[in-house]
Amino acid sequence: MTDCKRIVRRRRMVQWALAPIVVGTLALGWWYPILGFTVPLVMGVGLIGGLTRGRYVCGHLCPRGSFFDRVLSRFSPGRTIPVWFRSPVLRWTLFVLLMGLILVRISQNVSLWTHWGRVFWMMCVVTTAVGVGLGFFVHYRSWCAFCPMGTLQSALGGRKRHLRIDAERCIECRRCEKVCPMTLPIVSHKAKGVVDEPDCVRCSECVAVCPGQALFRPGDAAVSADGYNRAAGAGCGS
Ligand code: SF4
Ligand code: SF4
Repeated sequence: MTDCKRIVRRRRMVQWALAPIVVGTLALGWWYPILGFTVPLVMGVGLIGGLTRGRYVCGHLCPRGSFFDRVLSRFSPGRTIPVWFRSPVLRWTLFVLLMGLILVRISQNVSLWTHWGRVFWMMCVVTTAVGVGLGFFVHYRSWCAFCPMGTLQSALGGRKRHLRIDAERCIECRRCEKVCPMTLPIVSHKAKGVVDEPDCVRCSECVAVCPGQALFRPGDAAVSADGYNRAAGAGCGS
């Protein structure tokens, strides 16, 4: 097994461990409001991770993203996520609305921590319901195309360490696009060699399946002189 496949397998195992967190929070959050605080906790981790690694947290550490990848994907038609789902106007409008709603609801009883917990829990219920609904009819990661925290991470660090595509090695089989959880148009970037998609969640699934070893990320450990770690099988960093 190559290093890259091992990394991808480890990520999937971590996701299996994280997915129950969102299920438990949704099921028990009303009675145990402390569970609602997983929402700001994940937001905080996303914010810190977003500064240097863009949407890495979306792809590796978000319990809801893990649930979408590992569970919802089995029931989803996996259609291409419509481009307009990623439109900046939609995304930033939703960001302002949801963050504003959280602040207004919390201000209604600012001294009671259980109220805070229930506000976060309710936000998690509503947004997950939208995500699951879209997952059944469009794609399991549809929600992630306009999730406010994803939007923030994308804006903060989505342009750092873009994935690269080696035009000479790519045979345009499009296996990478089939496994991409964000349904990004990876091959359309072949000519310029840089997959400058700030919504990449850095899962490395595309790198692991590429038969031509055409995908890599600059700055990976042990990259060869031409910028690609062929000895290890893939430049699988995030
Ligand atoms: S999987 Fe690799 S070879 Fe196939 S289209 Fe994607 S980058 Fe090109
Ligand atoms: S482009 Fe590759 S690394 Fe980025 S989200 Fe898609 S499959 Fe994952």
